[in-house]
Amino acid sequence: MDNCIFCKIASGEIPSNTLYEDEGFRVILDNGPATKGHALVLPKEHYANLFEIPEDVLAKAAVVAKRVAGTMKDKLSCDGLNLVQNNGETAGQTVMHFHLHIIPRYRDDGQSILWKPTSPTSEELAAIRDTITGEGC
Ligand code: 5GP
Ligand code: ZN
Repeated sequence: MDNCIFCKIASGEIPSNTLYEDEGFRVILDNGPATKGHALVLPKEHYANLFEIPEDVLAKAAVVAKRVAGTMKDKLSCDGLNLVQNNGETAGQTVMHFHLHIIPRYRDDGQSILWKPTSPTSEELAAIRDTITGEGC
């Protein structure tokens, strides 16, 4: 992808604050971090999102994220950590190259990465279950 900023960062063409690199991935510090240590796991191959990334590459990305998360816990003494992965503009994706956010959390860090719960009825929950699983059609 000629015009993809994350392809250029992942390949090393554009310099970054790299925390980890192997043949398939580069993990960098986000330049607009939610918290201290906010990092991004970038596959070196271009996949736009979760729908495009092959399962084996996704599985490796999860392992890389787990290792970096462990290091953050040790080195930054964070109190918690969010793994976030956005797909599509509606879901907040701004760079259309698959990436996993690793966001260390600190007590009173002022961030809010959770959602407002809604209150569907049991019938509504059953209906959405049937829509997703294809049952009841
Ligand atoms: P998204 O909203 O697509 O899930 O996340 C994109 C993330 O990439 C944002 O957190 C943003 O701060 C970060 N980002 C965008 N451009 C760059 C860049 O050129 N370098 C780095 N290090 N991070 C970037
Ligand atoms: Zn790309």
